[in-house]
Order: sequence, then structure tokens, then C-alpha cells
Amino acid sequence: MSSFEGRVALVTGASRGIGRAIAMRLARGGATVVAAARGANAEETVAAIRAEGGRAEAIALDVTDTEAITAAVGGILERHGRIDILVNNAGITRDQLVLRMKRDDWDAVLATNLTAAFTAIQAVLRPMVKQRSGRIVNVSSVVGQAGNAGQANYAASKAGLIGLTKSVALEVASRGITVNAVTPGLIDTDMTRAIPGAAHDEWAAKIPMQRLGTPDDVAAAVAFLASEEASYITGHVLAVNGGMYM
Ligand code: NDP
Repeated sequence: MSSFEGRVALVTGASRGIGRAIAMRLARGGATVVAAARGANAEETVAAIRAEGGRAEAIALDVTDTEAITAAVGGILERHGRIDILVNNAGITRDQLVLRMKRDDWDAVLATNLTAAFTAIQAVLRPMVKQRSGRIVNVSSVVGQAGNAGQANYAASKAGLIGLTKSVALEVASRGITVNAVTPGLIDTDMTRAIPGAAHDEWAAKIPMQRLGTPDDVAAAVAFLASEEASYITGHVLAVNGGMYM
């Protein structure tokens, strides 16, 4: 398992699902994990990490609040003196066919899934440039690569994350900072449990490995991209989808 000893990681959307698994995985590797979610939601994740002997703290962070993101990163720098890993994982869906999609549902998805990642990246880049090292991993989606009827807002946000990833990767490549994305397929979490039965089964039937992914499958890929071993990999989009889209 990769070592994250001495590293400080911020994981957004760490209260459940994929974000929780990423936080736990990084902490198992020795990172000090700042687990972010709204209100006190990330506290259970932190308790689970501490119960395993890991280091973690919970912060209340709504990623749609730009100032709160900047303040959160400022707080991490004050408390820990560094930030090594940023995982932009917080995400939502507000599914609807384009013809019926409300502007609010477009805006909410773009704000949470894409603009928040941009803001968090801006906040961590300066300290990472100073450190001459950093790892940024954006949690995109197979839907950002393949598109999906009923998810134009979500697909646009996740495709946008890929463009953001590659562009920032180019900008900071000479500074020892890597920027990569993972594109999970159908992962068993609250988000996919909310998909109506028939649509869920239709998606599941498209998986060559014939099983849903687990949050740990995604966490392992994120941990690799966040590790020292991945130091020559940047601007990469790593699919974690059981072969569903190649
Ligand atoms: P869940 O719905 O299980 O968890 C979503 C997480 O995002 C929660 O921790 C939630 O925290 C957080 N979140 C949502 N809105 C905000 C906000 N405004 N501010 C802060 N945190 C917020 O989703 P998954 O674990 O399934 O998804 C995690 C990521 O993976 C998402 O970006 C999703 O798009 C992506 N993904 C998921 C796939 C899947 O099949 N499950 C497939 C491909 C990509 P809170 O406690 O505050 O609600």
C-alpha cells in the first residue's frame, strides 16, 4: 500500500459513498485526512478513521460556497502547514430530460460538480506551487465520457471536469504537481441506489465484469494517482468502470 506519511489530504464529499472510501484509504496509508461535507456529516467518517488508528478531522464545508472553500484551505494551512492532496469528490445529480430541465437544476449541478472543483484547485495551487509538489484528483464519471440521456447537466459537469483536469495539469506540470481524473462507472452508493429500478438494471447490464463497482474500487485508483508512484502521470483520465466504456 502506498505511503502517505506526512501528507495532508483534503477530500470533499467525504461523509459517505466514494468520498468516505477515499478518505479511509488515504488515512490507512498514513495521510492526515481533512474530511469535508456539509454540517457535521463527515464526523462519522473521521470516527471510523480514528477507530483504525488513523489521523483525520472533519470540517463542515458546502462546496457551493466559494468563500468557505478558500477559508477551509486557509484553515488547513494554519493547522497543518501544508496541503499535499486534494480530492474533488463532492457531487450531486438532478436528472431530467433537457427539454424539461429547470435552470436551477442545471446551475446546482454545475456549481457542485464543476465550479467547486475549480475553486478548490485555485485555493490549493499556491501552497502546492510553493511546496513544489501536490496531487489533485478529480472524480469525474463515465457519463462525462459517454453522455447519458436525462443527465445533460451532470454529463456536462463531469466532461467539464476532464477539460479542467487536463488544462490545469498542463499549467502546473513543471511545478511537481499532478492533476488527474477518475471516471467511475456504476458504483454501489446512495447516488446509484436512487436510480429507478429499470434504469439501474439497464446500466448494470452494460458492465462486462457483471458487477457494480464498490467505493473501494474507486478509492484504490484515487490513492494510486495521489501516490508518489504516480509522479510521472498527469492529465490522465483513469476509468474505473468494469469495462463498461473504453
Ligand atoms: P453520494 O451521493 O453517496 O455522496 C455524495 C457526497 O457528496 C456526499 O458526501 C455529500 O456530502 C457530498 N456533497 C454533495 N453536495 C455537496 C455540497 N454542496 N457540499 C459538500 N459536499 C457535498 O455519491 P457517490 O459517493 O456515489 O459519488 C461521489 C462522487 O463520485 C460524485 O462526484 C459522483 O458524481 C461521482 N460518481 C459516482 C458514481 C456512482 O456510480 N456512484 C459514478 C461516477 C461518478 P453531504 O454529507 O454534505 O451530503
